[in-house]
Amino acid sequence: MILHLKNTISNQDAAKIAAEIKAFHVTSNGTNVLITGSGVKEVPAQISDKVDQFWVFPNDMQLASKSYLPTKREVKIGNVTIGGTTKNTVLIGGPCSVESEEQIRESAKLLVDLGLSTLRGGCYKPRTSPYSFQGMGLDGLKLLAQMREEFGLSVITEARDATHIDEIIEYSDVIQVGAKAMYDQGILRACAKTNKPVLIKRGFGTTLQEFVQAAEFVLSGGNENVILCERGIRTFETGTRFTLDLCGVAWLQEYTNLPIILDPSHAMGYAYGVPVLAKACVAMGIDGLLIEAHRNPKVAKSDASQQLTHQEFTELLNVLRPVAQSVGYQMV
Ligand code: PEP
Ligand code: MN
Repeated sequence: MILHLKNTISNQDAAKIAAEIKAFHVTSNGTNVLITGSGVKEVPAQISDKVDQFWVFPNDMQLASKSYLPTKREVKIGNVTIGGTTKNTVLIGGPCSVESEEQIRESAKLLVDLGLSTLRGGCYKPRTSPYSFQGMGLDGLKLLAQMREEFGLSVITEARDATHIDEIIEYSDVIQVGAKAMYDQGILRACAKTNKPVLIKRGFGTTLQEFVQAAEFVLSGGNENVILCERGIRTFETGTRFTLDLCGVAWLQEYTNLPIILDPSHAMGYAYGVPVLAKACVAMGIDGLLIEAHRNPKVAKSDASQQLTHQEFTELLNVLRPVAQSVGYQMV
């Protein structure tokens, strides 16, 4: 249940009431909001005179639910806003991993030349094998921050565990919570304590309900800047790396109020399929697209097979702009 308290109640009193009924307490647009589990179906009698409005839910998709907030939430990524009524599809581009200063500078230049705003690059890589490249760590974060400074780009990078969050807040504009990290409550709770935008990727074995509940960990902890990212789920199919769940995206658009970004690169796993999938994604009217691109994919230290060349990335953007326009969006 979500309860909005009357505006005559102070923040301190709201915190006391929350403790009394064992609810989460956040403030949103000046309103004191209490959140309990969805099992609570009636306003607790002892606080009934303090409640202005309340909502009951069939399950624990609450703050993210359209039945609570019917309009899409807005999230700011640097100078670009997505969600709300913006109709912006942000194209987040860059390599899987930050590998060197020259490499990430070429990525940054590419984005600036194309009029784009947001650079990605992993520094703490959640690899499936301990023997694979694990990322440049803090040195990589500093390179991303340098690109942000030099080129005026926003940057997004992933946290592999909760101890990375403080560094990522310092050097990056968005915290990416990867498909494997999505299950890590330490990371989710740490993200909840900041105001940084958090991009949560769907775990490849998670239901939509579980995916949205990961977002609820961040929202109920007080951070309203949450973005969902569909990046493919594991099915019986082995011809492609994962299966991009576009049905799931339609479901999220119907039932949640969160901005949605799609990642066809990790879903497909092979560069040949990324452009055609990207077109299908953009045609759904989405808030963002995440595409991996590398100056020389063949020698990339991670996800080599799925990264586009800079030439392919440029051509793809030209194809995507009119697709976005045809559904009332613009690529930014
Ligand atoms: C990535 O974005 O490079 C990545 C590791 O993604 P995912 O968590 O979706 O596998
Ligand atoms: Mn990758």
